[in-house]
Amino acid sequence: MRYSRSFIYTLKEEQKEATIVSHNLLLRGGFMVKLASGIYNYLPLGLKVIKKVSQIVREEMDRAGAIEILMAAIQPAELWKESGRWHEYGKELLRIKDRGGRDFVFGPTHEEVVTDIVRKFIKGYKQLPVNLYQIQTKFRDELRPRFGLMRGREFIMKDAYSFDKDEQGMDLSYQKMRDAYNNIFRRCGLNFRSVEADTGSIGGKDSEEFMVLSKTGEDEIVVCDRCDYASNVERATSITEDEPGEEMELKKVATPGKETISDVCEFLGADPKFSAKALVYRNDEGNYFCFFVEGDDELNLIKAMRATGSIEIEMVSDEELENLGLEKGYIGPVNFPNRDVKVLCDYRITKRNNLVVGANEHGFHLVGAKYGRDFECELADLRMVKEGEICPKCKKGRLKKMRGIEVGHIFKLGQKYSKAMNAVFLDENGRAVPFYMGCYGIGIGRTAQAAIEQNHDEFGIIWPISIAPFEIEIVSLDTRSEEIRNYCDSLYELFEKEGLDVLYDDRDERAGVKLNDMDLIGIPIRVIVGKKSFEEGKVELSLRRDRNKEKIDKNSVLDRVKELRDKLYRELEEVRR
Ligand code: ATP
Ligand code: MG
Repeated sequence: MRYSRSFIYTLKEEQKEATIVSHNLLLRGGFMVKLASGIYNYLPLGLKVIKKVSQIVREEMDRAGAIEILMAAIQPAELWKESGRWHEYGKELLRIKDRGGRDFVFGPTHEEVVTDIVRKFIKGYKQLPVNLYQIQTKFRDELRPRFGLMRGREFIMKDAYSFDKDEQGMDLSYQKMRDAYNNIFRRCGLNFRSVEADTGSIGGKDSEEFMVLSKTGEDEIVVCDRCDYASNVERATSITEDEPGEEMELKKVATPGKETISDVCEFLGADPKFSAKALVYRNDEGNYFCFFVEGDDELNLIKAMRATGSIEIEMVSDEELENLGLEKGYIGPVNFPNRDVKVLCDYRITKRNNLVVGANEHGFHLVGAKYGRDFECELADLRMVKEGEICPKCKKGRLKKMRGIEVGHIFKLGQKYSKAMNAVFLDENGRAVPFYMGCYGIGIGRTAQAAIEQNHDEFGIIWPISIAPFEIEIVSLDTRSEEIRNYCDSLYELFEKEGLDVLYDDRDERAGVKLNDMDLIGIPIRVIVGKKSFEEGKVELSLRRDRNKEKIDKNSVLDRVKELRDKLYRELEEVRR
């Protein structure tokens, strides 16, 4: 493509709306332009990247035996009522009405629609397994759209859905997708890890997320420094050292004005490990819960939701606390005062022989409290694991925390949707059995942007060649010289004829402007034609990633460029960890 006839407009200024580098670079590089909060237009450069990521995804999906379809974006509410999600999905679901007042949604995901398709056509076990996928625009009315394509409201997703006749089949389909995902993200040049993930409120069997490692990731993950254990903190567990402490008598002590657990412990000279703090929440159904975790532990909200079967939970206000008859700052599990509030304790609390807890009386705490002797309640894993704790898998290594960007998610759904929607096939014995399903998502735009987050420098983007908008850029630094112009024109034509993916900066612009744009846009292989070298019969070749220049005879550019291109692709074949 000739730059002069393209639609590429770069921006000099930092973009205020962007708080992470990849978002800023996508805007400045003219890859996209914002239309509304979380909604973007893709410009030619952005679209090319989207197409390249999509193509890699397609190739790997096809290779794994999945079949491409394209489902409707607008879906009738009836299907969502059948699955039960019309009521469960919450505010992220964009609900719309047609002129007849009928309810529809703009699809945030397609389990219902694909299940409806499959139940129409698949009648018997011999037609299974089947895996259908699509690449399509989704809409989720995210609470906080941000970071550009990372968390948009309108975004492009690849979603695949597998249907099997039994659990073993489902496990195999899942495994195939897992392998395909590893290939996809490796081919996109990403440094990633797959981690165990939370299976959501209804709970499926297995689930893994593919995380691109990056400081700006919204997810926190833990990895073992010895084995392959890796998990989203949402569900991570650990082995913690036992330290029961001495058994003591339960005693009430005055702790006037000491309302935070750290203040109380300091005042009493107690180790916060030997204390229990209370956190009171209300869920989507209006039920109240009081969670107790150790004083220096953090409540893991996802675990708290799972333990209580909640879809959403929210911390209660001071006023609500008062109405519940709970003394802020002095809430404790011994003689808990309100039977309508369900009490749950983290397991770790049961291991201590003496704890500082609230006395449920203003200005007082209890010391020496012991689970089983002084109080009892439902127990659950409620705590956030901490760095340095022991790996639950190999039981030797230590856990390390990192941040990640979730680019893909695979999930064994089991019969959740097929049962709810009565999607069945006849098995070998003529019995109607609901399908065993799996679902597998990849954020196309998020993947592209995650690649920038991992590959950039102070001058701009450094695209992995596989998903770069172009593989090669020719820059002519002297457009006034007819000789140089002719040479560049014919080099460009030669490249095009050879099927190379090339951008030719033929603009009548200053060299500085062109070189800056070239660094910003980040095309991996560059051919720079400047007056001085040209007079010596040479042009300059360089890679965006190191910007080291090599001078090449102006007649052997094609071969060298092809060599570099092949080398860059070969590098992506080597597994990165
Ligand atoms: P998140 O936890 O980030 O909100 P999710 O778990 O809701 O994502 P899935 O339903 O698993 O997302 O969607 C599959 C994939 O789609 C995700 O792995 C991610 O790459 C992408 N995705 C999800 N939400 C968005 C969004 N708002 N903007 C861009 N991509 C998204
Ligand atoms: Mg997810």
